[in-house]
Amino acid sequence: MKPDLELTSVPTWATTACRPSADLTGKYWTIVGFGAEAEPMVGTWTAQLSGVDSQAAIRIHRVGAHDDAAAAAAVSSDLGDAVVGWRLMIAGPADACLRLRAHALRSGVADDEMLVASTSVGVREVVCVHCGVRTRTAADLEGVVACTGCRRNLFVYYHVSRLKGAHLGFMVDAEKVSSR
Ligand SMILES: [Zn+2]
Repeated sequence: MKPDLELTSVPTWATTACRPSADLTGKYWTIVGFGAEAEPMVGTWTAQLSGVDSQAAIRIHRVGAHDDAAAAAAVSSDLGDAVVGWRLMIAGPADACLRLRAHALRSGVADDEMLVASTSVGVREVVCVHCGVRTRTAADLEGVVACTGCRRNLFVYYHVSRLKGAHLGFMVDAEKVSSR
């Protein structure tokens, strides 16, 4: 299979939970927090931005831990009137952050306009290249997961698809994997 050109290395924040400081280079900010576990990061970012400018233009969206649709809608809405200096900051489980980053990238947001804080990294989403179904499960990089769509054993590729926001999974020879 030909390598997918939009495949990219797994971002650091998808392998290790991280809490980066707010991006103070912006002028307008959208913060999206997935679930209760994102709340400390949302609070920290808000305090950091307000500390620099008490009138800082911040829009905060709190969505459910797995509510991709609400998060994507919030970003699309804010993007509608975004101007130069707009920044997107995302906090939550790494798999949700990957999906929202993919949505933003597909909408034309640049990497340097986004900041991600991951609150947990154990759960990954794998897109099966054979049937297209997404399987979300606790999985190690280069581990094996069973596709919920076609039941094939999938190798969790180290790279992610930027625009799908997930790892790609290829069928493996189960014996070969277990003997490694
Ligand atoms: Zn499948």
